[in-house]
Amino acid sequence: MIWSGENTLRYSRNLLVEELGEAGQERLFASSVLVVGAGGLGSPALLYLAAAGIGRIGVIDDDRVEITNLNRQVIHRADAVGRWKVESAREALLAFRPDLAVEVYPEPLTAGNAAALFRRYDAVVDGSDNFSTKYLCNDAAVLTRRPLVHAGVVRFGGQMLTVVPGAGPCLRCVIPRIPPRKDSPGCAEAGILGAAAGVVGAWQAMEAIKLLSGAGPEPGGKLLTIDTLGNEVSCVSVARDPSCPACGDHPRITEPLAPEEYDPGWSCIA
Ligand SMILES: [Zn+2]
Repeated sequence: MIWSGENTLRYSRNLLVEELGEAGQERLFASSVLVVGAGGLGSPALLYLAAAGIGRIGVIDDDRVEITNLNRQVIHRADAVGRWKVESAREALLAFRPDLAVEVYPEPLTAGNAAALFRRYDAVVDGSDNFSTKYLCNDAAVLTRRPLVHAGVVRFGGQMLTVVPGAGPCLRCVIPRIPPRKDSPGCAEAGILGAAAGVVGAWQAMEAIKLLSGAGPEPGGKLLTIDTLGNEVSCVSVARDPSCPACGDHPRITEPLAPEEYDPGWSCIA
């Protein structure tokens, strides 16, 4: 993107932020982000990434908008029910940022497409709704050395971990196994309030913005837990596990795994 009178004004408040400045803003203009899932987390993440001036955004999701999504998936309008989420999201993003390059994939993220897709972007935001896809995102990010902003949310809060391959732990270092379903009910079972997804998804966008602009300290290595009901946020430093099957010293995962090799029985947490 080239500076013009219009975008100097559009991003003027960004430019005033010392840690970002013109150099950081230009890095955002030149950056690309893939968002996995246009749901509860993806909706705010997509809008705030676009608002920040990211140059190119990809969205992958194989679902259509349902009326039960609308309590939290705020990128979709009521008249989008029945449409592909990626198409509805593209329309909303282009209405908001006509100059944005939006690439949409109305298909599931799979072992077959994940690595090639991740390589097309500078960073990945995981707004998926199931643990199998979250682990697939993790493994593909480690294999392609793309930074990944992982998160999950249910009821009033969630967790977030930024994975910077080669510079910190991955999701498997911190959560080696997918939790049993009884310990991790999904939003279709436990419920979710949309503002909680808004908080976590917007925070994911912030992580990606910091990563890509160079603002702030090196991200990664921190597990953030956000509870909006009790107004509690905890941030715990976590270390890379040298025996991790994905990012350890002798990785055993050398290509993305088929979904059944993760966990076939899991469901929605976004
Ligand atoms: Zn790891």
